[in-house]
Amino acid sequence: MSLNTSESSDDSNSTQTRAKRSKVWEHFEQNLVEVDNYFRAICKYCRMQLSTKSGTSSLRTHISQYCHAIGEAERNRFIATLKKPIENFVFDPQFSRERMIEFVIHAEIPFNKFEDPYFEPWVQSMQPTLSVVGRQTVRNDCLKKYQRMKQDIQNELESLDSHVCLTSDLWTSIQNLGYMVVTAHYITPDFKIKKKIISFKEVKYPHSGFAIEEALVSCLTEWGIRNKLFTLTVDNASNNNTTCDLLVDTHKYELMLEGAHLHVRCCAHILNILVQDGMKIIHEGIKKIRELLKHIVSSPSRMQAFNEIAVVNGLPTKRGIALDIPNRWNSTFKMVAEAIKYKTVLNSYANQHAEIPPNEQEWSTADSICKFLKTFEEATKAISAHRKPTSYMFLPLIV
Ligand SMILES: [Zn+2]
Repeated sequence: MSLNTSESSDDSNSTQTRAKRSKVWEHFEQNLVEVDNYFRAICKYCRMQLSTKSGTSSLRTHISQYCHAIGEAERNRFIATLKKPIENFVFDPQFSRERMIEFVIHAEIPFNKFEDPYFEPWVQSMQPTLSVVGRQTVRNDCLKKYQRMKQDIQNELESLDSHVCLTSDLWTSIQNLGYMVVTAHYITPDFKIKKKIISFKEVKYPHSGFAIEEALVSCLTEWGIRNKLFTLTVDNASNNNTTCDLLVDTHKYELMLEGAHLHVRCCAHILNILVQDGMKIIHEGIKKIRELLKHIVSSPSRMQAFNEIAVVNGLPTKRGIALDIPNRWNSTFKMVAEAIKYKTVLNSYANQHAEIPPNEQEWSTADSICKFLKTFEEATKAISAHRKPTSYMFLPLIV
């Protein structure tokens, strides 16, 4: 009772104390001035008097927008206090850790970055209750995440009604280790096309048909899809024929039509062989173009000499010249196509520097081959598309 009386008797004072809890009061003088029965607050920076008749809203607007005397940093700090905290937010350390692991995997963060001396203070500044996990724990978490994701795919594959098509390829790393990748393509019950890499393993040499078959079967067994295999797309190498024959032999009764359509020859690879073969016709010409370009890019002064000739011929100058990568015909195609545009420049450059340019015959062969290859390039791009069913596209393109 006595408390009630004291509160009601001193109402204006109590409003004042309550209101003073607002962060905005830091920017006003402690003492208010009374004008016409209302209190006014004095801005610490510009000394303006502001009415507190409707609470602190006009004070907040003054500090956040209008005061000309407040420093930029002070203003920003105040604006930051205006942002409301997210309602009902409960910090969940486990949830947070899982999101962190997703980030680590996706952004490929090395595990030892968790021992960086600046990492923990940063996390602590945001959430003091989150304990920063060491690199070993992060590593274990990543492996667990991998196991869970693998299990998800396994469950999906097991529950499939459809068959699974595989594509596979082998290559040699720079450490001379042979690797095999297996990609599964399938359609889920809700008709979504999926493409998942289900194996990426070292396969010991020699890469005989038998070795490849063994690796493939172990992969199929691991995922429990031996009875769901439909086709296997591999490149046209002869060991792959053996692989497919062996697979058909051992899986005759699991494969559709006893494996009559198991072997699919990779269209991109066939196109590649066709083109490499065709390019042999202009091998000499390409070699001359490549040597000439190498000569130009080998020094800035030569590059400058090239550009000077380009300017005289009304062609755009170049900052650099891309040479081709052996075995990638489209890079050779790009290099030659670009060289043809600069034919006159290259010819005069070669004359000035005592280099050998392609002869007229070679230039004209290169020109016709490039026109021809354009179609192949378009076809390769179309069939190399990622998550699209491309098999229906290749026949018209090849024809
Ligand atoms: Zn002010």
